Amino acid sequence: MGSKCSRVKRLLAKRDIKILMLGLDDSGKTAILYKLKLGDFVATVPTIGFNVEALEYKNIRFTVWDVGGQESIRALWRYYYRSTQVLIFVVDSNNRQRIYQARNELHRLLNEDELSDATVLVFANKQDLPNAMNISEVADKLELHTISRRHWHIQSISAKTGYGLYEGLIWLSDNAPTKVVQASSYIALPTHRIFECSLI
Ligand code: GDP
Ligand code: MG
Repeated sequence: MGSKCSRVKRLLAKRDIKILMLGLDDSGKTAILYKLKLGDFVATVPTIGFNVEALEYKNIRFTVWDVGGQESIRALWRYYYRSTQVLIFVVDSNNRQRIYQARNELHRLLNEDELSDATVLVFANKQDLPNAMNISEVADKLELHTISRRHWHIQSISAKTGYGLYEGLIWLSDNAPTKVVQASSYIALPTHRIFECSLI
């Protein structure tokens, strides 16, 4: 695991990268951040009225929030979309009731102009649960085959065990665009800078 970890660090450290990690509430985004031990990342932005988790490590910026509902604040999200190179969309593979809601939210995001260049990585989470949908069922229900003109990938993961997480990040590091992002295009959030790879 050590060598995978250093490969991810090495590859991601070469570029400025802005990653949005989104998904329905309860899909496992916070658990993923903790599992990655990306730091003491929790930051709330009460003036905007919704919770954002943000962290940065060197030139990598991670911003995480729940999607679904909250129509009134959707316009605000667009500020975060700007210059995003990577969208990680997290799905609870064990929740058959909400998979169509997840599909709708994902496709709504894919239609955002500001995300039109973003590389898309879908994390099919909670694969440790015995009744979880497998990756092809998740891909099918999310209608990933309808995505055109952009790079995408689905990775089965478990935020609980750590399974698949680094494989997903390695895919990202190999496939994320290398565009240089001006620091001024970021929204300043309180962040903490720690990056450890002590997974599994
Ligand atoms: P968020 O709302 O997307 O941030 O989701 P959380 O990270 O808070 O996780 C929601 C719930 O799912 C929590 O009870 C987690 O412990 C659980 N959970 C998250 N990831 C996994 C996983 O990979 N496997 C299992 N079994 N439970 C998970
Ligand atoms: Mg959360």
